Amino acid sequence: MRTPDTSPSLSLREKYALVEEGRKRQMKDGEFWYLVSRSWFRRWEKAMTGEQDKEGGVDEKDLGPVDNSPLLDASGQLVKAPVEGVDTEFFPVDIWDVICSWYGKPEHTIRRQVVTLGVFQETCLELHPLRLKVFRLTDNLNSSETSGASEQVTYASITRQVKDLLQDLARAIHPSFSEEFRVWRVTSGDDLHGIDYPSGLLLQQNTEILEPSDETLPDALIESEDSFVVEFAQGGKWIMTELPPLATQGGGFFGDAAVSTTGSPANEPGALGLGNLGNTCFMNSALQCLSHIQELSDYFTTGAFEGELNRENPLGMKGAIAETFGALLRRIWSTTSPVAAYSPRKFKSVLQRFAPQFSGYHQQDSQELVAFLLDGLHEDLNRVKERPYVEKPEWQGGGDLELVQLARESWEGYVKRNNSVIVDLFQGQYKSTLVCPECKKVSITFDPFMYLTLPIPAQKKWRHTIFYIPWDTAKPPVKVPVEINRTASFRDLRNLLGRWMDANPDNLLTVEIFAHRIYKNLDDSVLCGELSEDDTVFCYELPSHAQQARSYANQQTENDPFIVPVFLRGTAVSDQDTQATSLFAHPFVVAISAGDAHTVEGIKNAVAAQLQRWVSGGQDAISTPDSAFSLKLQANNKDFGASFSAGPNGKKEESWEDRQLAGDPVLLRPNDALYLDFSEAAKARFFPAAASAAPVPWDASTWETFAHPEYEELLRISAEKKDQSITLQDCLDEFTKEERLGEDDPWYCPRCQKHQQAAKKFDLWSVPDVLVVHLKRFSSSHALRDKIEMRVDFPVRGLDLSGAAQQRQVARKLQAQGVDVGALGLSADDVEEPLVYDLYAVSEHRSSELEQGHYTSDAYNHITGRWYHFADEKVTPSQPESAVNEDAYLLFYKLRTSRPLGGKTHSTLQEPHS
Ligand SMILES: [Zn+2]
Repeated sequence: MRTPDTSPSLSLREKYALVEEGRKRQMKDGEFWYLVSRSWFRRWEKAMTGEQDKEGGVDEKDLGPVDNSPLLDASGQLVKAPVEGVDTEFFPVDIWDVICSWYGKPEHTIRRQVVTLGVFQETCLELHPLRLKVFRLTDNLNSSETSGASEQVTYASITRQVKDLLQDLARAIHPSFSEEFRVWRVTSGDDLHGIDYPSGLLLQQNTEILEPSDETLPDALIESEDSFVVEFAQGGKWIMTELPPLATQGGGFFGDAAVSTTGSPANEPGALGLGNLGNTCFMNSALQCLSHIQELSDYFTTGAFEGELNRENPLGMKGAIAETFGALLRRIWSTTSPVAAYSPRKFKSVLQRFAPQFSGYHQQDSQELVAFLLDGLHEDLNRVKERPYVEKPEWQGGGDLELVQLARESWEGYVKRNNSVIVDLFQGQYKSTLVCPECKKVSITFDPFMYLTLPIPAQKKWRHTIFYIPWDTAKPPVKVPVEINRTASFRDLRNLLGRWMDANPDNLLTVEIFAHRIYKNLDDSVLCGELSEDDTVFCYELPSHAQQARSYANQQTENDPFIVPVFLRGTAVSDQDTQATSLFAHPFVVAISAGDAHTVEGIKNAVAAQLQRWVSGGQDAISTPDSAFSLKLQANNKDFGASFSAGPNGKKEESWEDRQLAGDPVLLRPNDALYLDFSEAAKARFFPAAASAAPVPWDASTWETFAHPEYEELLRISAEKKDQSITLQDCLDEFTKEERLGEDDPWYCPRCQKHQQAAKKFDLWSVPDVLVVHLKRFSSSHALRDKIEMRVDFPVRGLDLSGAAQQRQVARKLQAQGVDVGALGLSADDVEEPLVYDLYAVSEHRSSELEQGHYTSDAYNHITGRWYHFADEKVTPSQPESAVNEDAYLLFYKLRTSRPLGGKTHSTLQEPHS
């Protein structure tokens, strides 16, 4: 192990670099790492870098030892799901030791081991090793009498093998045992207070002996809070001379354990509740929806899937996902189920083996699980054993006939490689069209989809007041109220402001101002929704390109002026250290040409020209800049001083003389900032306290408001929209709306041979028998907080996609022209039949203040002909109409048709199988 230089004489920058290097190191299996609460870490980071944020700065001497109390719950246990970078940071041993030597011994040390998980062998810190309860078996037939010290708790890594766990458990009772022992798994023990477990209680239990094996704990379905009883042989004899009566019933009952035998419609097939295994409602919701698609469940419950298992597929899971899903469906649809609810532990254990992202116990996204499961089932059941290479056909131009041919060729190419029950039931095709804005070249491709993600065209709005400063000093600065989508970028906002304020958007610069400084550079990459309501946003108009847009790099020229922030500073306080607090008013921004930057005088005049609008008395007052302020220069102000990456010593004041001596005729450099130092007297003269209610230029809160007519209109529309809900058709329209590609993701036009911001359009081409619609309520699957809660109206019966699916439309047109559509692979019946769908299941996400919300589902039971609402183990009768609400997240529709659904899968079902 390296021995870092831990002497306290290290500079802040050296300490910072040392720790950063350690934190970024790759974790290795078996290593121990330490948790450091994010709140302490942030204070440390600020102390090292000199960063000042909205809570101010931190001095190293005020840090104190690592404070991990935010990571612990009331009982002193690590909180449920701490997230790296949000709640915690991870430190390797050597860095932890160094931190302790610098700041003292922390009250709470949280050490965890690195483990390797999943088939992809990902290393991660095991934050929550299993917490297991251990009892000692005593020969006492009185089942309620317990004694001895309190129960023993032991922790075990999920990577531990069962045979080793058995030793751990025995050692937890007797650290140096020598007798023979065996271990019982028990379900009760919660009400026992002693370490002793009476044999009488074990006799009444549904229990089994835990056999030594190489299985890992998750594979053996051992979970946190499980209880075990260790039985030591006494004089070579077991205490339990007879086996508990229930232990002999069937094989391992743990996989099949009922979590509840109460609750309504018990024992009806398809009405089985699914127990929550700790934030697994997302999984239960998705499973109930998929299991209620009759065509899919028939395929599994009849055993038809067994003949199609593809265990060799390298993209699959050796059939394991299909088999465990099949076993679960058989249980759900069992007509002889003795229980009303069941915990799908086996399914979860297999799932997390192949998809470690679903392991652990934090909330996930039911959509991600449906996508993973459909894909996994497809690969496990792919009828194609060896995938041929298939080239994707290209659009060569033409009319409807060529379009149908291209779609068909694309589909046939896809099916040559992908052919399964999932393709038969769930896959359709969409068409994407790109048009080059310059040469008008059209590119059309057809791609398969397994579910349809539809945007909800009711984006959340971001309302804000922008402090707008025109370059022309004759125009007053104004407050501009705006409304824009939360997902709009600041480039979008500058485009809007440019239109409203009659300015070139390229010449606008947007920044966040805090404590008289520029706090954040609001460039193209920042989304409006990232700023909160009370953040202060300034927009400066400049006489030239503001150099803020990402596209600026392509347009940069040698003659571009320097864009320099100018900060106002009072020098009344002599103590050098308090300079930061002597800033006042707000900064402004100037554009200084290279020519003007040849002399300090030229720079001063350029600054004074803008300064005159901010001071009392205007131009006359500062006609001789030298008497008004002194001009100071500071280097390394990346992002106008908002970036702290330079470290504490990075932003140093430089003298103009040094710059002049440096030899470059141009005195300014990129990332320079200017400070105008005003004497106490000058400050009082130029920036007097406001005497009246009239706007005062240096106090932005007093500026007049300019509300553009478009803003008034936006407000009116928003108010109207509140009363209306959105329909599924609106979402479809949004999906098929033509869009222009962004500057950042252009399309390479093969004809122009360059990147173009092409017009892009999606259309539905063909739709599957089972249509899964994913309403895009979350901007990303990991941002469950920022959710669109708008209600979307969707039909329970009769969703008509005849107009939306272009294949149908085009086929009809061709048929009318006398073309034999049968020869194009479309049956004449199909062309006639309307594409009408009925709802069969809905996965719902209900937001809540606590945690990340809760998933439930509603589904139609084809055996009882009724709808049920599923909330984990709780199952209640429901009506489909009640599922049409603002929680609806995934919609499962089935085609209403006279022919059987599922094509090839249907014929498979007709064949005899064991
Ligand atoms: Zn082109």
